[in-house]
Amino acid sequence: MTRPPAVDQRWSSRARRARTLLTDRPHAAPLLHFYLSLLELQTDVCAPAEAARWLPSVDASGESEPPGLRLERLPLGELSDTFTAFCRGMPSTAPEPIACAARAASAADAETRANLMLAVLTGSGVDTEADALACQPAPLAFLPRGFLSPLAEALSDLVTPPDRAPRTPTCPRCGWPPQVSVLDDEPDAQGTRRLVCAFCAAAWIFPRSVCPRCGASGDEGLRFHVDDAMPHVRVEECRSCRHYLKSVDLRVSGLAVPVVDDLATVELDLWAAEQDLEKIAPNVLGL
Ligand SMILES: [Zn+2]
Ligand SMILES: [Zn+2]
Repeated sequence: MTRPPAVDQRWSSRARRARTLLTDRPHAAPLLHFYLSLLELQTDVCAPAEAARWLPSVDASGESEPPGLRLERLPLGELSDTFTAFCRGMPSTAPEPIACAARAASAADAETRANLMLAVLTGSGVDTEADALACQPAPLAFLPRGFLSPLAEALSDLVTPPDRAPRTPTCPRCGWPPQVSVLDDEPDAQGTRRLVCAFCAAAWIFPRSVCPRCGASGDEGLRFHVDDAMPHVRVEECRSCRHYLKSVDLRVSGLAVPVVDDLATVELDLWAAEQDLEKIAPNVLGL
């Protein structure tokens, strides 16, 4: 199957970066091995090449308010079989709670699987399904998110961004919160900050000093924590709402791939947990 070139390129650069970090950051190896096998499973099973087929159902770019995609309108019944294949193909590198949730979801009925996908797309949570399948909610929610995110990323590439992208705190394309923040220089602006979507991986410009969760800035807003071992990644901690996300400074390390460097800096998440901070959006592996 052919994949849209833009998505394909991004995925191979993520895999390359994960392999590099395996060597540089051995303590993150189990996570990175699982991430690499997840990328392979997503490549084999998920069907972003067919994304154009789903676009008419979800394209809301003509509606007055963002987001441009309403992914909860996907015909989930038609995706049920591929979702089952994704759950059945869960690699041996998966942590046991995820492997266990995958076994339960592949044995469940089609309606339960459609409900799992819908719950993730509408942000309503999977507690009911977790009770019914006797597994933990977080690993169960990982399954539809891991399965649908390649499709979301491909669809996101197909919608035309607004002429002047709104500086919203959530993804203007799919409505999800940001996963990570990225700093880079542009020809006409130094240190531009972009937020990267936790679901479709779209990036959009956002003011540097503003908390994307509560809007606080100045003395009430962000402060930063850096770990010397990885100076290009820092925690952006909000003093008002006590949430955080990491920012990756591409001016310090041009080889970084933000979503992968986020996964590989688990010590920053542990530090944040010790400070009673909550991540704005856990990454695909639940960190
Ligand atoms: Zn998005
Ligand atoms: Zn805040």
